[in-house]
Amino acid sequence: MHSEGHAGLSLAILSLFMIAFGWVGLDSIVVCLFIVGFSSLPDIDLHLGIEHRGVTHTLLFGVISGIALAALLGYAGWSWQIGFLAGFLGTVLHLLGDIFTHKEFKPFRPFSDYKIALHLCDSSSPVANKAFITLGGLAFFAVLLKHAGLF
Ligand SMILES: [Zn+2]
Repeated sequence: MHSEGHAGLSLAILSLFMIAFGWVGLDSIVVCLFIVGFSSLPDIDLHLGIEHRGVTHTLLFGVISGIALAALLGYAGWSWQIGFLAGFLGTVLHLLGDIFTHKEFKPFRPFSDYKIALHLCDSSSPVANKAFITLGGLAFFAVLLKHAGLF
C-alpha cells in the first residue's frame, strides 16, 4: 500500500475509536494526526536500500521507533507518551495495511518467522489506495463533526 492508503486506513481506524470512546477533543485530534503522520514510517526501508518489508515491518521496529520518538519529544520538552504512541501505533497501523496486500512479511521477527499476507490486493492498487484514503477522510470528517457538536 502507498502512503495515502496507509494514512487513510490509519485515519479510519483511529477515527472509529475516537468516535466510539468520545475522544473528539482538540488534543485527541492532534495526537491522531501525529500518529497518521508516522503511518508510513516502516516504508523508510525503500529509501535506505535495505530489504523491503524486512526489519522495519515488525512489531519490534514499532517498539524501537516508539522509544526513539519518545526520547526525541521528551528531550524537546513535549509529551514523550505521544512520541511513543506515534512511533508504535504508526507502525502497527502500517503493518495492518500491508496485511491486505500480496507480499508476505514477518511481523513477529526475530521471535517468530510466522509470515502474513491476505493477498487481497497489490500494494500499488489505485482502487485500494483511493478506497482507504476516502474511507479515512470520511471517518475523520465525522470526528470533526462530533468535535463541533453536530451529532
Ligand atoms: Zn510497508
